[in-house]
Amino acid sequence: MGVADNGHLMIGGCDAVELAKTYGTPLYVMDEARIRSNCRQFQLAFKELPMPARAYYASKAQSNLAIARLVYTEGMYMDCVSAGEMYTALQAGVPGQRLALHGNLKTRDELMMALENDVGQIIVDGFDDLTLLIELARAAGKKASILLRLRPGIDAHTHQSIQTATLDCKFGFSLYDGAAMKAVRMALEAQDCIELMGLHCHIGSQIFETQPYALAADSMCEFIAQIGRDTGTWLKTINLGGGFGVAYTPQDDPLPIAYMVRCAGEAVVQAASKHGLDYLPQIEFEPGRCIVGDAGVTLYTVGADKDVPGVRHYVALDGGMADNPRVALYGSVYTPLIANRVRDAADGHYALVGRCCESGDVLVKDACMPAPKVGEVVALMTTGAYHASMASQYNRLANPAAVLVKDGKARLISKRPTLDDIIAYDRLPEDL
Ligand SMILES: *Cc1c(COP(=O)(O)O)cnc(C)c1O
Repeated sequence: MGVADNGHLMIGGCDAVELAKTYGTPLYVMDEARIRSNCRQFQLAFKELPMPARAYYASKAQSNLAIARLVYTEGMYMDCVSAGEMYTALQAGVPGQRLALHGNLKTRDELMMALENDVGQIIVDGFDDLTLLIELARAAGKKASILLRLRPGIDAHTHQSIQTATLDCKFGFSLYDGAAMKAVRMALEAQDCIELMGLHCHIGSQIFETQPYALAADSMCEFIAQIGRDTGTWLKTINLGGGFGVAYTPQDDPLPIAYMVRCAGEAVVQAASKHGLDYLPQIEFEPGRCIVGDAGVTLYTVGADKDVPGVRHYVALDGGMADNPRVALYGSVYTPLIANRVRDAADGHYALVGRCCESGDVLVKDACMPAPKVGEVVALMTTGAYHASMASQYNRLANPAAVLVKDGKARLISKRPTLDDIIAYDRLPEDL
C-alpha cells in the first residue's frame, strides 16, 4: 500500500479511487502480495525452528475460494469450523489432508464430511464431540487424527469476547478438574478409530505479547509429560492456536510474525526440557487475523454530512455495521483515509457512521482527519480479517463485492449480490 504522486491511495498497484469507480462501493480490497508475504513470514520462521512446524490459516477470518487457494499455494494448512468453510477450502483445491476441523459444536454431518474427505486433523472440544466422532469413525471404518482442545486458564490481555482459554469459557477440556485426562483415556481406548496426535490451546486474538504462548506451551508440555507417565503414550503435537495481533491504528504495535514464532519455538523447547520430554513436539499455529487483516482495505463513498454544532460532526458512509460489525461487537478502532487526498492534514473530528437504522451503526466514532466531502471515497485500513466473513445483510443491504489486487490488476473474488440475489432464498407461500 502506498500513496501516488497525486495523493491517491494505492493498493497492490491499483488506484483506490479508480477501484471504487469500477466496482462501486462499499468494496473490500485485498492485497495479494501482502497476504503472500504474511504467509511467507511463517514459512521462513519455521525453517529456523528445531522442530517441525505448520500453520493452519484460520479461514473464519476470511473464507473465500480465492483466499483459500492463495494461502494454500503459500504452504498453509487450513482451519475450518463448519461444513461451509470445509467446502470452500475443498472447492478451492485444498486437499482434505491439509484441513483441520474445529468447533465446540460439530454436527454429525460435519464430522461425516470430515471423515469422508480424510480431513487431516479434528480438534476435539468436549465429551459429546469425542463420543460422536468415535461412533462415526468406527462405523465408517476410518481412523481420525485428533488433537484435544484444552482450557488451561490463561488470561491473554485482549477483549473478553475474543479471549478463549480462561476457565469460564465454552471451549475445550479443563486441565484442573480431570476432564482433560478423562478425554485422553477415552481417546486412547478407541485406538481402532482414533489417533490422538496431541493437544491444542487457542488463548485468544489480537495478542501483542509472547508470554501467553509461553504459558500455554508450558501447560501443554506439563500435561504431555503427565499423560506419558500415566499411560505410556507420548503425544507429538502441540497446537498453540492463533491470535497474533495486527495494527488497526498507529498506536497498535504488533510483534513481527517471525519473532512471535521464534519465541513460541523457544518456549516449547524450554517447556519440553523442563517437563522431561526427550523429544521436541511438532508445533502448530492457526493464524487468521495476521494473514489477511492488514491486507484488506474497505472503500466507502461519503453520502451525507450532518454537523450537530457543539455535539458531533456526522459523516455517513454507504456501508456500516452490515459489512463491518466489529465496531458494534468489540468497540474496534480504525484508521480512515480519504482515498483521493491521503496526504491532506487533519482539520477536525468526525464521526464516520454507516447507513443502517441503528444509532450504534458507527465505523469510526472519533476520526481526526481532513473533512470528508460528499462524493469522496473513504478507505478504512486493516479490514481484511473478520469483515467479509462476519458481514450480514441487515437492512437488506447487498454485501460489498471483493477484489484481489496485485501489480496494478484487480480481479473480482466475490461479487456484489443483485436485488434478485437478495430475495433469492425467500419463499412466498401460495396461501398468502
Ligand atoms: C479464531 C481462532 C483462530 C484465529 O485467531 P486469529 O486471532 O485470527 O489469529 C485460531 N484458532 C482458533 C481455535 C480460533 O478460534
